[in-house]
Amino acid sequence: MKPGHFIAIFGGAVAGSEAAQELSKQGIHTVVFEQNALPYGKLESGLPKWHDKLRDRQENMINEKLKQPLVRFIPNIRLGHDVELNDIINEWKFSAVLIATGAWKDRPLPVPDIEKYLNKNFYYQNGFVQWFNGNHDPQYKGSPMEVSDNAIIIGGGLASLDVAKIVMIETVLKALKERGIDENLLNLEKKGIARILESHNLSLEKLGLKGCTLYTRHEIRDMPLNVIPEDATPEEVEKNLSGREKILGKIQDKFLFNIKPAMQATKIIEENNTLKGLIFQHVDYADGRYKLIEGTDEHVYSPMIISAIGSIPAKIPGLPMKDEIYDVENTDTGRIKGYDNVYAMGNAVTGRGNIRQSQYHSRQVSENIVDQYLAWQDEDYEEIFSTAQDRVDQRLEAIGERLKRLPPLTGEQIREIDDRIKRLQQSVGYDGDYDKWIAEHLPPRIEDSLEH
Ligand SMILES: Cc1cc2nc3c(=O)[nH]c(=O)nc-3n(C[C@H](O)[C@H](O)[C@H](O)COP(=O)(O)OP(=O)(O)OC[C@H]3O[C@@H](n4cnc5c(N)ncnc54)[C@H](O)[C@@H]3O)c2cc1C
Repeated sequence: MKPGHFIAIFGGAVAGSEAAQELSKQGIHTVVFEQNALPYGKLESGLPKWHDKLRDRQENMINEKLKQPLVRFIPNIRLGHDVELNDIINEWKFSAVLIATGAWKDRPLPVPDIEKYLNKNFYYQNGFVQWFNGNHDPQYKGSPMEVSDNAIIIGGGLASLDVAKIVMIETVLKALKERGIDENLLNLEKKGIARILESHNLSLEKLGLKGCTLYTRHEIRDMPLNVIPEDATPEEVEKNLSGREKILGKIQDKFLFNIKPAMQATKIIEENNTLKGLIFQHVDYADGRYKLIEGTDEHVYSPMIISAIGSIPAKIPGLPMKDEIYDVENTDTGRIKGYDNVYAMGNAVTGRGNIRQSQYHSRQVSENIVDQYLAWQDEDYEEIFSTAQDRVDQRLEAIGERLKRLPPLTGEQIREIDDRIKRLQQSVGYDGDYDKWIAEHLPPRIEDSLEH
């Protein structure tokens, strides 16, 4: 084999696959280690299943990228569990290591003792959406979940609105079924709950439902429902802010959930070792902080509580963290503190970077690891994904500059890494036929079993 560079990439989704393809174009060998059987990350487990066409388009793009020359793939291998960063650096001797492991751990809800009830009647968004995406599959291995009416959802960004929609769709479908009406989930999402109920001469009230309520610290005007251009005049700013109430009103009219703005959960309500609800306090936003207003306690009783306040990267042994994210020394390359050749990209890291102007148009994409986009349509998501890819490309350009200064690995070193990869692939039962592996592991799709 010819001398060259060999780079390890952890995480095979939007960021990891983009990095693999770009490096392949530069003649650099890569191996993508993915903790799951499928390398699709948030597309499979975070994007609600009604975005079927968008998901398929994006997943096909990942497939194409991972099938490029010089790209190897190893499924079911998790960094920090099946392989250690230390060994990857010191024993495998890659030219560089890229961490593209995303942000799939839920940010803990800061309410004392709430975790006692985790997965009893308190849930986090990631597990909840995963359940929703998989629950039509008879082979689904996760715990069953009972979605209740009058649920409390805590959040205010993209993920919390998706959760509110899921809760409404699930409770309405169940109530309709109890009346002998078999409605279709995808129709309900497309046409909206209000329209479907009307067609049956029904309403939430007639079904005996209250609907779920989204509690958010934001005022509606502060929810990221549209983007205010940086050079907006005061009149334009005001127009955009008041437009947010209209946008949200339309979404609520369609899906019939309730919203309580400017409220923060502070305590649990417990009776006989059962979680009965939450105490909320009103908040005021001043000097860049949310402040609780004394004497505004509200006791809210509910059978189900879901927290959707954002996702953060999971801790990986050996990777330093600063606050909630990996500690990065250089924001251009995403180089991780304390390492010469370990870089983070995608949702695993924050940093302003230079998003190309062409990608940075109508919708401003914040780089913070908080789910603060309001991507309601496929196009919004599509833009987020392409911006994420663009950020990876930018970072790779900067990493490329550093690689040029490193001596390439010898042909013998490349072969040694290749041998290790083959052994690891064998150990997980992957024979190198990517398409066959994907076909064997793709779960059943709801759209194949429903008429819509
Ligand atoms: C509900 C939702 C919320 C979103 N929120 C945000 C947001 O807050 N910020 C943002 O920038 N974009 C967000 N997006 C947009 C989009 O998810 C990202 O831009 C893009 O998907 C990120 O891709 P990624 O590859 O970085 O992460 P992911 O899609 O999360 O992929 C990470 C991959 O790494 C794998 N992995 C994780 N840990 C390990 C490990 N230890 N070893 C090996 N493999 C591992 C995972 O299995 C997964 O395949 C969101 C999208 C959705 C659907």
